[in-house]
Amino acid sequence: MVNDPRPARGAAIDVLGATQAFRTSGGDLLVLDDVSFSARPGEFVALVGPSGSGKSTLLRLLAGLDAPLFGEVYVDGRKVTGPDPRRALVFQDPTLLPWRTVRQNVATGPQARGRLAASQEVIDRALETVGLTDFARSWPSQLSGGMAQRTALARALVNDPSVLLLDEPLGKLDALTRRTLQGELLRLWEEHRYTALLVTHDVSEALVLADRVVVFSPRPARIRADIEVGLPRPRDQADPAFIALRERILTLLDADLAASAPSRQDGSR
Ligand code: ADP
Ligand code: MG
Repeated sequence: MVNDPRPARGAAIDVLGATQAFRTSGGDLLVLDDVSFSARPGEFVALVGPSGSGKSTLLRLLAGLDAPLFGEVYVDGRKVTGPDPRRALVFQDPTLLPWRTVRQNVATGPQARGRLAASQEVIDRALETVGLTDFARSWPSQLSGGMAQRTALARALVNDPSVLLLDEPLGKLDALTRRTLQGELLRLWEEHRYTALLVTHDVSEALVLADRVVVFSPRPARIRADIEVGLPRPRDQADPAFIALRERILTLLDADLAASAPSRQDGSR
């Protein structure tokens, strides 16, 4: 990154002591417990952790969709108090509007802000960036899973995000499409230089893409480890250093699983 001539357009992220809990029928559920972490402008950070540990909850705080119970979330030094199109969230499910064409879906943000006429070029460029120019007039029902997710990415990119929040965006895709879109995610990030936060279940995916991998504990989420990847891209999954990092992270995740499983000895009395 030191010799990188491209300016970083991404925003700095600072999460300071974020604690989040939900009121449920079974009582209060503590989901995030005093979570603090930062991302540098333009950094690509992957978040991995057990299912239900609070990763999506953390992304919702960054997106400004929810406010933390305690603690603060800052983007470029400004406290997050609500949603902003420049902090875009992409979900596992592309959530396209079925009655709008691909192009109309991509145009949703500018249209909602009354900027549709001024944004035609930006919309076309976003479609081109994700390789969907020829499908601009298609309906969501005509798209493959990978194409639908590309549409969702283009819909985020038209807002020129300074932060892209990716919540298991490739989780439902087949292995081959997933591999292709991992390459796309990397290319888009290298081109746009937003700060990317990727939640993924796939440790290899995290290591192929990210500068840093943050490992969360089971709920309530605490940061278990914060690991600098430090390998040149494109990353070689057969590289012993890659394999060693993957083993290290899997061991951290496994240790948590073992610790959270009910102990047989305790239960035998
Ligand atoms: P992850 O993304 O790591 O799988 P989530 O952040 O989605 O986990 O959820 C963490 C925990 O918080 C889960 O147990 C989930 O059921 C609970 N949870 C999330 N959102 C709410 C909500 N709005 N109300 C009640 N419980 C919630
Ligand atoms: Mg989740």
